[in-house]
Amino acid sequence: MDEAAGSPVGIGAGEAALVTRPAARVRVNGRDVPGGLRVMRDRDEIRIGRERFFFSTRDPLVVEPYPEEPVTCPRCTTKLLAGTPAVRCRCGAWFHQAADLECFTYGDTCPLCLASTVLEEEPWHPALL
Ligand SMILES: [Zn+2]
Ligand SMILES: [Zn+2]
Repeated sequence: MDEAAGSPVGIGAGEAALVTRPAARVRVNGRDVPGGLRVMRDRDEIRIGRERFFFSTRDPLVVEPYPEEPVTCPRCTTKLLAGTPAVRCRCGAWFHQAADLECFTYGDTCPLCLASTVLEEEPWHPALL
């Protein structure tokens, strides 16, 4: 995002506010931002000049080291050990996701909740800024 236009500020679980500068031409869902402060909701559209962003409060699907006690991977039914590259589905289930063991993306959907297993490239989320 353009620094001069404003910046998202986390204000609590699943919520964020967008703070804009008076001179910035920022619109949310096609409207001006009165007072330069706007609490964002999931899937709000942000326009800055000609650029367009979507705000999302959903956790991104990303590969990260598995942080907890060993569990059984629902896809391959072998143990998922702490530190192993893994993806947590939005249903909470953890899967292996290493170059030689792509359990999460092995199928198009999670075997438990049937959500899409497409990993996000560059999710735009306040927690990552
Ligand atoms: Zn697995
Ligand atoms: Zn799932």
